[in-house]
Parts: sequence; structure tokens; C-alpha cells
Amino acid sequence: MSTQTKTTFVTLKTPAALPGVETALQGLGQWTRRLHGSAGEVSGLELAPNAPPVSRETLLAIEGVADVLRAPSPHPKVDGQAGHTVALGRAALGEGVLLMAGPCSVETESQIHAAAAMVARAGARLLRGGAFKPRTSPYAFSGHGTPALRWLREAADANGLGVVTEVLSEGDVESVAEVADLLQIGSRNMQNFALLRAIGRSGKPALLKRGMAASVEDWLLAGEHLLSAGASAVIFCERGIHGFDPSTRNLLDLGAVALLKHAFHQPVVVDPSHATGRRDLIGPLSRAAVAAGADGLLIEAHPDPAHARSDGPQALDEAALTGVARDVGVGK
Ligand code: PEP
Ligand code: MN
Repeated sequence: MSTQTKTTFVTLKTPAALPGVETALQGLGQWTRRLHGSAGEVSGLELAPNAPPVSRETLLAIEGVADVLRAPSPHPKVDGQAGHTVALGRAALGEGVLLMAGPCSVETESQIHAAAAMVARAGARLLRGGAFKPRTSPYAFSGHGTPALRWLREAADANGLGVVTEVLSEGDVESVAEVADLLQIGSRNMQNFALLRAIGRSGKPALLKRGMAASVEDWLLAGEHLLSAGASAVIFCERGIHGFDPSTRNLLDLGAVALLKHAFHQPVVVDPSHATGRRDLIGPLSRAAVAAGADGLLIEAHPDPAHARSDGPQALDEAALTGVARDVGVGK
């Protein structure tokens, strides 16, 4: 299986073969661009990388095609994880819809224990919660740091859950890797290459959130940084990109989810919470995410959303989380 974001060219036996070859390629769903020789003649066609995969044999079988040339993929290790499930401690991604849920931030020991019990009852397999929080304002609550990691692990263990939590800086990789089954890279750090490489060196699986203004290709290349540094797997997490319209905070790019899953066969999950910032839209967007091909969901949930210290307005309570989980067939 291939992600086919690499460039493919076909050369022509004779210029006269051009119309027939173009028609055949269009029939295969390929967008093409004509390549011209020094005398202005058409010498070949470049296939756009954002088209459905087509094998070399299929291209060579087209009447009038002389040869097929492919540039090597810029992210061979990402391509190599196509179609694989991802082991995450007690859970796995790629076998039914995997729910990862919990509060935005780990606030107190009792809060995270209540959250863990609640998300486990709803069918989650991993507990989320930030010990290190990236906040837009320097005056906002930024997490309790290292002590919160221990609370998170103990709460997860008490409820048979795995742990996913964000790593904010290179210096914290070791302590987070000791407790977490899945290391989260926040949207704001998707292209912090030193951090990606440090996380990769831990040998753990990574949850790579898409940068708010990152192209899919940049996202895949960030995944390549992680895998080439030693990460055991990269799960891509779509969490909304910057659009022009503030009505839904961010623009949840479900086209990218379908592309990553159905064309590239990558492990992919959706975070509908940060995508919209509205708890009333989490249900519909979760269902849409799963329909588009998401292997799992990362959802913010809190035992007492009204008193959450961060992202309360988007947090689900137990009843709402249970409803969403049931609607997307979690645990089936
Ligand atoms: C989070 O999941 O806690 C978070 C900060 O999300 P993002 O990096 O997508 O903004
Ligand atoms: Mn949050």
C-alpha cells in the first residue's frame, strides 16, 4: 500500500499518443499536467499526487505509454505503517472505534479519578488529560506538571485504562514516556522538530495533532520525523484547522480524515472537542468522523464541566459522553 503523495510521470511512445493517454488517465481518476520538451513538444505527463493510487503495471498497460517514472516518497516510514493496527498498552487502534476521553487538564487527584471512572463506564480505553498545557495566554492554568502525571497513571490503572497525554518540551519526554501509553504532540508543536525527534527516541507511539495551518503533506512529514527517530507508530489526529469563519472555532477537515484512512491507510483519529469548542456539536461531528474513516475519537469530558479549569464549555458530562460513545459503536 502506498500513500502516493510521490510524483509520478509517464512518458509517451510518440507525441501522437497524447490524447489517448490523457483519456485513459482521466478514466483512472488521474489529474495530469503536460510536460514539454525543449522544442515545445509534449514529452510526457505528470500525474498529480492527490489522486487515487494507480499501479505502475496499470500505467504501462495504457496504449502509447513508454515508461513510468516515480520519485521516491518523502515519507517512506509513514507509508510503511499503512494498514497496520497500533498497539497502545492495554488497547489497540484499528479494531473498531477507539475512544480516548478525559478532561482537558488534570486538575486534582480526585478530579482525574472521577474522570477516569466516568470515561471507563462510557467505554473509553484510554484516559486523556493534560499535565503540561499549552495555553494561548501566559496567565491561564498551564497544568500541574510532573505530579499530575502520576495522578493520571494511577487513575487510569484503577479503571483499566491506558494514558494519552501531551508532551510540551524535550525535557519532559522521559517523565511522560514513563507513564503514558501514547505521547500526544499538540497542534502548536506539530513542526517542533527537536521535540518530535526527542519523542521519537522514546520508542513509544505518538499521537500527532495536525497543526492549525499545516498541509496534509507537512503533517505526514512530521510523522516521518517521529518514525525515523524511533517512534513505534504515529497516529494522526485531525483537530480542526484555521478557516475564515469563526462560527465553529476551527474547520474540522473530514476530507483529510477520509484521505488519510481510505487512500493512505494510516491510523487516524479525530478530536471534535478542539475542532469546534461547542459541546452540542461533539455528537454529530463524532458520527461524521467515524463515517469518514476515523479509527478513534479524542474527546474532552469532565465529571463537572461547569467547574473545569480549562476548556469547560466544550467538555461533555458522563451522560453526553455515554450517548456519543453508543452512537459511534464504541466497544463493538
Ligand atoms: C489538547 O488536546 O489538550 C490540546 C491542547 O489540543 P490542541 O493541541 O489540538 O489544541
Ligand atoms: Mn483542551
